[in-house]
Amino acid sequence: MNDTQKALLKTLPKIDGMMQNLEKENIFERAPKDVVKEACRTVVENLRYRIMKAENISPDSFQTPKAEDILADVTAIIDALHQYHLKRVINATGVILHTNLGRAPLCDEAVRRLSDIGAGYSNLEYNLKTGRRGLRYDHVQRLLCVISGAQDALVVNNNAAAVLLVLNTLADGKDVIVSRGELIEIGGEFRIPEIMEKSGAILHEVGTTNRTHLADYEKAIHENTGLILKVHTSNYKILGFTEEIDLFTLVALGKRFGIPVFNDLGSGCFLELDQYGLIREPTVQDALATGADVVTLSGDKLLGGPQAGIILGKKALLQDIKKNALNRALRIDKLTLAALEATLMLYLNPETARSRSRVLRALTDPVEQVEKKARKLLAAIRRLKLAGIHVSLRKGISRSGGGSLPMEDIPTFCIALTSDRLSCHMIDEHLRRLDIPVIVRIADDEVLMDLRTIDDKEFSFIIEGLKTVTQEKNQGTRSKV
Ligand SMILES: *Cc1c(COP(=O)(O)O)cnc(C)c1O
Repeated sequence: MNDTQKALLKTLPKIDGMMQNLEKENIFERAPKDVVKEACRTVVENLRYRIMKAENISPDSFQTPKAEDILADVTAIIDALHQYHLKRVINATGVILHTNLGRAPLCDEAVRRLSDIGAGYSNLEYNLKTGRRGLRYDHVQRLLCVISGAQDALVVNNNAAAVLLVLNTLADGKDVIVSRGELIEIGGEFRIPEIMEKSGAILHEVGTTNRTHLADYEKAIHENTGLILKVHTSNYKILGFTEEIDLFTLVALGKRFGIPVFNDLGSGCFLELDQYGLIREPTVQDALATGADVVTLSGDKLLGGPQAGIILGKKALLQDIKKNALNRALRIDKLTLAALEATLMLYLNPETARSRSRVLRALTDPVEQVEKKARKLLAAIRRLKLAGIHVSLRKGISRSGGGSLPMEDIPTFCIALTSDRLSCHMIDEHLRRLDIPVIVRIADDEVLMDLRTIDDKEFSFIIEGLKTVTQEKNQGTRSKV
């Protein structure tokens, strides 16, 4: 350590003194004393570390950090505690059900119900007719049966919980027959073999990765078989030399041997998507009409509602599932229930669901409409006359995402943005750091904003965000010590 370093270390403020100064700024109204003290220590320690590291420090190359700057650094740490960590963002990626961006955005009706029900008391578990205890699941049971054709329904925390609960109720200690081609992993550690093990069921894989025959299922059946499971391979497709047994055939097989058939649909759609030029996926109604004894699906995938797991099926089985003690641990929350009920109500009329659900709109809006939206945003950005920023229109492909419609190329329009001064990655980072971050994708050295996942109401945030891009420096310059 040289003399300059020693001298500098002596100029570092004392924690007690800092605390006195901060008290004058009423900082203790904003955070507990211990937390403020810890923040002071962190800031001073950082300065001490930097001084110690800088061997070749010379007196004239260095300015003593000002006391008010040091305090400002402490205040910044406390300020950060008051900023929401969970932020609303703008999804400009074109991935409609983006798992990392919270999957399905809710419809307006659901959002209103969140605030109505959340702000007060509700009849969550209270029967208003009898004045006695009620069941939380009952609020959506009838709607679910009406729109799906199921005999009975139950909702839990998410679809992973739904699968766990069904397996545990119907196949604890028993064999569950599944095709090898359906032993899937879905993002976030959900793997069929692992969830099966946790449920107490015994996995009995049949067939091969690409081909499974009816005889494979048939041979696997014995006295300890509890369930035949069919999993919707939501996020991939096996192409080429393949064979899988359809639900209809499995249902017939199950009937013959008296074994229930469970269909985990994953994304589970109620709308016939081929009407809108998309690939036909079996609907939830199809699965139940085909005779599946139990069907499960997510609330926040193609349904376009809150995170939830929906269990539909035969009354006798659903009664057992409802009575399982595990159900209590996986139960749905009242806010979820409020948002889910509002979402399901839209499905009483499929066209209402299509036009009110942001997920279904993004999926089914004609490409001409997306182009129109893109041109509108493009014109608004051009009006800003941002120095050194170039924007133009690009055709592209959006994705359904969230483990649904893996083969679907959805045509779209994007705004491509480049800068004379800033790299794509710098623009991307700038947009991520906005108060309302804009999440983009980068391709061929251009920043792309896909209009399929952007709502008109979000244009103003993008415009405001872009205005600040031109203020971005070429290099991050924040130098102290
Ligand atoms: C997404 C998915 C799940 C898990 O559902 P979550 O709602 O994410 O818990 C289970 N099975 C399939 C087939 C899925 O696609």
